Amino acid sequence: MGASPQQITTSSLKLVVNQYIINHMRARDHALIGALTASALMPVLGVNSVVFWTASVLIDGDHYVDYVYRNGFKDFTIKGMFRFNRSLSAVLSKENKKGGFLTISLLHTIEALGFLYIASELTGWLWLQSVFWGMLFHISTDLVHKLVRGGRIFGRALSIIEYVIRSSSMKQRGIQPQEVYRRAAAQLTDSTEIQDIKESQ
Ligand SMILES: [Zn+2]
Repeated sequence: MGASPQQITTSSLKLVVNQYIINHMRARDHALIGALTASALMPVLGVNSVVFWTASVLIDGDHYVDYVYRNGFKDFTIKGMFRFNRSLSAVLSKENKKGGFLTISLLHTIEALGFLYIASELTGWLWLQSVFWGMLFHISTDLVHKLVRGGRIFGRALSIIEYVIRSSSMKQRGIQPQEVYRRAAAQLTDSTEIQDIKESQ
């Protein structure tokens, strides 16, 4: 007995919904865990726990900047960013053991945190301190998430200086740390590899 057109529509609809949930899980997780922690911090931060929460979510905005930069400022869509990130994590999970890559997210660095910390200490502004704690909280959750999922903790540089030193030493050894970005982009235009993206999820 073959599937009726209705069944086909339902199953493809399910697939789309599943894809949507998978794509947005990370951002949603951050929003949920952030909201719980922010409400627990209410007695300390007061109204600034909203700032804490906002910073802990918006820090991932650098994935967007990264996407726009990697595609040569050709695509500015959020949908495109999610597709690219999905493709990138598929490439990274394949490369995981070999470790021939190095990524960086500028807001997820010690330098960005340090800058905010100094600025918040100098001004004494509680809202700026809340931004700092929100970002630190997010970065810690990212690391724990990676640890639990068996990802490569050091696959993403946590410092700009570290990134410069490590990527130049990789290049000297003939490894192209940026190659993963090119492959992630190529994979999106090559439909034969889309299956890999689904499998790795
Ligand atoms: Zn993040």
